Amino acid sequence: MRNLDQLFFRLAESPFRRRFRLDGRDRAYLEEKGLALVVEHAHALIGRRLAPAQPPGDGKQTPFRGHPVFVAQHATGTCCRSCLEKWHGIPRGRALTTEERAHAVAAIERWLRAAGGGASRQGDLFR
Ligand SMILES: [Zn+2]
Repeated sequence: MRNLDQLFFRLAESPFRRRFRLDGRDRAYLEEKGLALVVEHAHALIGRRLAPAQPPGDGKQTPFRGHPVFVAQHATGTCCRSCLEKWHGIPRGRALTTEERAHAVAAIERWLRAAGGGASRQGDLFR
């Protein structure tokens, strides 16, 4: 498992990862639901779609739009087990530990905070 500061430094150097942005609909969703609830969604999504030893449809389980957590997953390399191995040093082929799940969610939450912080009104959300 890699340190999040190092991870974000590396992500910023990837043209593919750094192109992900929240669109207007994602921002509105975040604003309406609040970060805490969206992070709960992240826990549930990671638990169901990433944590199993052999996640169903691994490599294709994370859509590119439709929920802010999906976007955050692509941006942080927590979208599938290959990316989790490459970006986070967490090997494929076994279930994620509790700590590894928490680490993936922490990366998603950090990205969402940074990505949602741009609009003036969203400052209120992320206090
Ligand atoms: Zn992936």
